[in-house]
Amino acid sequence: MSFLLIFAKRFVAGETTDGAVEATKALNAQKVRATLDILGENVESEAQAASLADDYIRLLDVIKEHGLDANVSLKLTMMGLDVGDRFCRDNVERIVQKAAEYDNFVRVDMEGSAYTQRTLDLFYDMYKAHPNNVGIVIQSYLYRSEKDIEDAIAAGARVRLCKGAYKEPKEVAFPEKEDVNASYVKLMKRLLSAGNYPGIATHDEAIIEQAFAFAKENNIAPDRYEFQMLFGIRRDLQAKIAQDGFNMRTYVPFGKAWFPYFYRRMRERKENVLFVMKNYFKG
Ligand SMILES: Cc1cc2nc3c(=O)[nH]c(=O)nc-3n(C[C@H](O)[C@H](O)[C@H](O)COP(=O)(O)OP(=O)(O)OC[C@H]3O[C@@H](n4cnc5c(N)ncnc54)[C@H](O)[C@@H]3O)c2cc1C
Repeated sequence: MSFLLIFAKRFVAGETTDGAVEATKALNAQKVRATLDILGENVESEAQAASLADDYIRLLDVIKEHGLDANVSLKLTMMGLDVGDRFCRDNVERIVQKAAEYDNFVRVDMEGSAYTQRTLDLFYDMYKAHPNNVGIVIQSYLYRSEKDIEDAIAAGARVRLCKGAYKEPKEVAFPEKEDVNASYVKLMKRLLSAGNYPGIATHDEAIIEQAFAFAKENNIAPDRYEFQMLFGIRRDLQAKIAQDGFNMRTYVPFGKAWFPYFYRRMRERKENVLFVMKNYFKG
C-alpha cells in the first residue's frame, strides 16, 4: 500500500491536515481557491462518523486560523448515512453550523445513485436553515438531473455540476459518453443562465471552451460562476484559468482513507496508470 501511496500523492494531498494546508497555500499563491475533502466513505460505525464530523469542524478552524481561501466538501456516507438519515443529518448540521459561524461553505458531494434522493432531501433540509453555507452536486450522467437542476435553480441553491464518477446501470444513467457530455453542456448552460454561482466541475477542455463562449455571448460576468477541478489533474489549465482572471477552485482530498478515491481516478481513464507514472516527476 505504501508503494501505491507514492502514486496516489499525485491526486491526494497526503494523509494529514498539514499536507492539505500546504497544498492549499500553494494553490492560493496561484490565485486558485480550494475545497478540502477528508477522504472516507461508507462509514458504518456511529462513533467513527461522529469523530469524522469533529475532524471537519477542526478543519474549518484550521482554514480560519491559516487564512486559507478554501471551503470544505464532504460525503454523506462518511457522516453516517448508512447508519441512518437522522444521525447523518445531526453530524452534517454541526459542520454546516460551524461553517456559518465562519461565513464559510460546505459542499455536499454526490455519491452513487442509490443515495441521490436521500442526499438531496438532507441537503434541502440543511439549506433551509443555512442557504449561504451549503451547496449540492448534480451529475450530468443521471437522467433525473435535468429536473434536479430546475429544482435547485428554483430554490436558489448553489450547484456543482460534474459528469459523475460511479458505475451506474443504464436504467438510471446515460451509458454513452457523448450523451453524458451533451447533458453536461445543456445543464451547464441552464446553470450559467439562471443558477446561483454554479461550479463548473470538469477537466474537459472542449466543455470549458463552451462555458467561456456561452458566458461571453450572454454577458454573464466571470464573478457569477467558478470552474472546479481535481487536485493533480490539468494543473496547467487550472493555473491558466486563474491567471486569466476567472474563478478557479481545486478539490483537495486528503486523509488516510485515500484508496477508493484514488481507484476512481484510475478507473476513469485507461491511460491513467501510465499517466501517473509519466507525470509524477514532471511536477
Ligand atoms: C471539483 C470536482 C468535484 C467532483 N465531485 C464529484 C461528486 O461529488 N460526485 C461525483 O460523482 N463525481 C464528482 N467529480 C468527478 C466527476 O464526476 C468526473 O468523474 C471527473 O471529473 C472526470 O470527468 P471530466 O468532467 O473531467 O471529464 P472526462 O471526459 O472524464 O475527462 C476529460 C479530460 O480530463 C482529463 N481527466 C479526466 N479525469 C482524469 C483523471 N482521472 N486523470 C487524468 N486526467 C483526467 C483528461 O484529459 C480527459 O480527457 C468531481 C469532479 C471535480 C472536478
